[in-house]
Amino acid sequence: MTADALLRVEGVSAGYRDMTVLHGVTFAARAGTVTAVAGANGAGKTTLLKTVLGLLPAVAGTVLLDGAPVTRAPVAERIALGMGLVPEGRGLFGTMSVADNLRLGGRAAGVRGAALRAAVDAALAPFPDLAAKLNVPAGRLSGGQRQMLALARALVPGPRLLLLDEPSMGLAPKVWSELLVLIRRLADEGRSVVLAEQKIRPVLEISDRCVVLQRGRVVYAADAGSEAAERHIDSAYLETA
Ligand code: ATP
Repeated sequence: MTADALLRVEGVSAGYRDMTVLHGVTFAARAGTVTAVAGANGAGKTTLLKTVLGLLPAVAGTVLLDGAPVTRAPVAERIALGMGLVPEGRGLFGTMSVADNLRLGGRAAGVRGAALRAAVDAALAPFPDLAAKLNVPAGRLSGGQRQMLALARALVPGPRLLLLDEPSMGLAPKVWSELLVLIRRLADEGRSVVLAEQKIRPVLEISDRCVVLQRGRVVYAADAGSEAAERHIDSAYLETA
């Protein structure tokens, strides 16, 4: 599994100042797949995604993209190499238009001019609803449309690895189901999607692999559809219930 993985996380520990949150986390994610990261509130899902992108330093272990270590690379370099993050809460600029939010996503990654226009068009392709609202301020969109905009913005620089943090937040179940179908399609087009969620069940249905975190440790990293995955998820969540 790990030999040709796009992302490999090997023995990574990370956290905040005097608190280590992740303890020796190891897993791999291939291109063309969805990896669900499950764990109760505070298990370390957000910390893991931030450490993969470089927003937080790994104090031990290695993050590899295409087999090359990026553990010490700054965020901008990891983005240039093909990583993209949709943060928890989406991080959109509410008073800026849909189009401006998308352009910003490209500019922040160094995409300019004609290449930026082409990249914005390409990122909008999976989201026809958004393409019809280019001049609408992001803050006026529905929750589902805002999440689509956050996804589209992350797609502008053309990431091969898409890190999604709690994308279901604030969405009605029906909208969330529709978004999951779209997310699966983004993976089927060849990207690797790593999706962290607390309410993991619907995510498992579109996932190939599942990583279960319990108090910052991986207790399961294998097939998403197995009975073992179910068991580990049950016990990881029960502990904090
Ligand atoms: P949630 O589902 O609530 O988002 P999570 O699994 O994403 O949870 P993290 O946000 O990674 O968990 O948090 C893991 C631990 O790190 C928690 O104990 C949390 O209180 C702590 N933590 C998170 N952010 C910070 C921070 N900026 N400074 C200090 N501690 C933090």
